[in-house]
Amino acid sequence: MPKAKNLFNFHPNFKQITTLMHAKASSILDTSIAYLKGVGPAKAALLQKELQVFTFADLLRHYPFRYIDKTQLNRIDDIHPESQYIQVKGKIISKEIIGEKHAKRLVAVLYDGSQFLDLVWFQGIAYMEKYLVLQKEYLVFGKPNFFKGKPSIPHPDLELLSDEPITFANRLLPVYGVTEKLKARNITSKTLAKLIQTLLEQVQESDIPEFLPEEILQRRQLVRRYHALKNIHQPESEFAIQPAQIRLKFDEFFILQIRLLRMKARNRKLQGFVFDTVGDNFNTFFHEKLPFELTNAQKNVLREIRRDTLSRQQMNRLLQGDVGSGKTVVALMAMLIATDNGFQACIMAPTEILAQQHFQSLQEYLTDLHVNIALLTGSVKGKARKQILADLAAGSLHLLVGTHALIEDAVQFQNLGLVIIDEQHRFGVAQRAKLWRKNDTPPHILVMTATPIPRTLALTLYGDLDISVIDELPAGRKAIVTAHRYDNRRLEVFGFVREEIAKGRQVYMVYPLIEESEKLDLKNLVDGFESISREFPLPEYRVSMVHGKMKADEKEFEMQRFVRGETQIMVATTVIEVGVNVPNASVMIIENAERFGLSQLHQLRGRVGRGAEQSYCILMTGHKLSADARKRIKTMVATNNGFIIAEKDMELRGPGDLEGTRQSGLLNFKLASISADRAILEQAREEAAQIIEKDPNLETPLHLHLRTYLIAETQRQGGLWSRIS
Ligand code: ADP
Ligand code: MG
Repeated sequence: MPKAKNLFNFHPNFKQITTLMHAKASSILDTSIAYLKGVGPAKAALLQKELQVFTFADLLRHYPFRYIDKTQLNRIDDIHPESQYIQVKGKIISKEIIGEKHAKRLVAVLYDGSQFLDLVWFQGIAYMEKYLVLQKEYLVFGKPNFFKGKPSIPHPDLELLSDEPITFANRLLPVYGVTEKLKARNITSKTLAKLIQTLLEQVQESDIPEFLPEEILQRRQLVRRYHALKNIHQPESEFAIQPAQIRLKFDEFFILQIRLLRMKARNRKLQGFVFDTVGDNFNTFFHEKLPFELTNAQKNVLREIRRDTLSRQQMNRLLQGDVGSGKTVVALMAMLIATDNGFQACIMAPTEILAQQHFQSLQEYLTDLHVNIALLTGSVKGKARKQILADLAAGSLHLLVGTHALIEDAVQFQNLGLVIIDEQHRFGVAQRAKLWRKNDTPPHILVMTATPIPRTLALTLYGDLDISVIDELPAGRKAIVTAHRYDNRRLEVFGFVREEIAKGRQVYMVYPLIEESEKLDLKNLVDGFESISREFPLPEYRVSMVHGKMKADEKEFEMQRFVRGETQIMVATTVIEVGVNVPNASVMIIENAERFGLSQLHQLRGRVGRGAEQSYCILMTGHKLSADARKRIKTMVATNNGFIIAEKDMELRGPGDLEGTRQSGLLNFKLASISADRAILEQAREEAAQIIEKDPNLETPLHLHLRTYLIAETQRQGGLWSRIS
């Protein structure tokens, strides 16, 4: 019996392959912040703790979030309801604390010779009351509110004007983010501006060598890096700010792309297993078992996978497709190619329910084929588990379905050829790298997302992978009809549910689950279940309930009753969100729909519309809706297209809040935003790709500075990148 291999066996040459650069960078920028004039140990400790500023480089990267132009003044009587931010100069002529308890506030009146303006504080009242001096002149900045035609500014920024005249040099004053703690210790935005000025006086252009080749600067019309850093902190003019920001955003994207593409290039260099046989399993399945014609998009993806697995290089591919576009069957066929070539394959799902569901549907597809398949999750224990592990090591078990339990040390494959990761952005770059690193020859890897993600996000989170897209739903699918109903029309909705059940259909009713208040949510769910059971009484109706607090076997039992059609209604939390496949279910009712994110709503909606019947999704909400919730609901009603929804979701929430992205550590940009700066990201990606294509190890003199910068950055950032590169 050949030696069994674990996913984690370390490749002996791995260090050699991956550790490209050993040189130690040292630069004035790595100097500890404590050595900057005007800082000292106490301030340094605060800057480290509050702003994560440890070195000169970190301080240089603490960018201003806006600028005050002291020469741009508005007149109070020019302020109108559409005014965005305004700046006025005037005297405080009165101040008064009014109101009780929650309504208590400080109101100061500013007069600039044209009109009066109320400045209002709800917090820090006592402090501000002392700070404001009557009859003194202040520069005031803020966003005005209008009430009965009268402007006021809540919590304005303000500054006591000294008598010294405003000079050109400080015309555009940078404003830096500081924490409350820093403010309390008298470290303000102005303090930081001064420190950065001191720093910029010490740093020479030669300390910040340009790392982009001249050609790229020209082509993309980018200012030089030193110029950008200087101007973002101390703009020569208002026209210097945007080019500086664009250059620095470009760099953030560019450096990340260089890293991701280097990983990708490195993966390419790794030997991959060759799947050159299309054998009995695949052919029998394709010609005899596959119950439908594959869509063209599915065929294309299979071709891409074929090409990858014939290339002698390791496949690292992301498969994106909308809910119900048929990713599972593609995954299965890829696994059959692996088994036809004498390899094992595994599929890893994010939850136990999903793993079970995959296992069942694969098992069905595989009846009469000579493929052995098993399910391994945390709840498979004892004898059953031992048997699976033994069969796996012996090679008599061909396909393994499971959860993260699959990457435990005890799980040893005889010859693992293909890993499929079915996920919802839960597996980061680092974990993926870990997966294939642990094998002599790494298995091919196919990552599937549950719903589409925007292209810019894919380029960032999965920038090290090739991307396949299934952009077509199977023929004959009827578009799901989505409607929004307020809670007071619930009886009507229940009437509709009865009609559908009378036609033989099944119905999901989903309740939100928010972790902080799980108890409350469970109560919601149980109350919901009870009222549904009253509305839909036995013996005519049978209702299932599934939630996260149930034991795996109870969950499974309830799910199965619904899958087999023994119950007509499934009351559940979002545990049914991903993957679950019951084609006869045609109605999805989502309670408190305002509490769900867009991609979650879309994913839930994808549980219906899987059969031939017309399906419906009804989003129930109360009357009180936030503007964003309203937009989410509107988007859901307007489109079924997951790619459009993904873009909208990112636009509404910002990329940092998308599920699973925060932990990834890949989106920690200081300036750039993958939703607002798409064009810059695309350009940075193109340029990075050209460089890595020509010079994957950055060895040519042209890329010397880039290479030095990357080394220095990797050392500075530690964390994520030192773990994987
Ligand atoms: P996804 O995982 O992409 O959300 P699934 O793989 O679960 O989608 O497929 C959804 C449903 O569509 C399943 O019932 C599957 O059998 C069916 N299906 C997949 N591909 C096709 C096709 N080409 N034609 C018809 N039905 C298909
Ligand atoms: Mg699926």
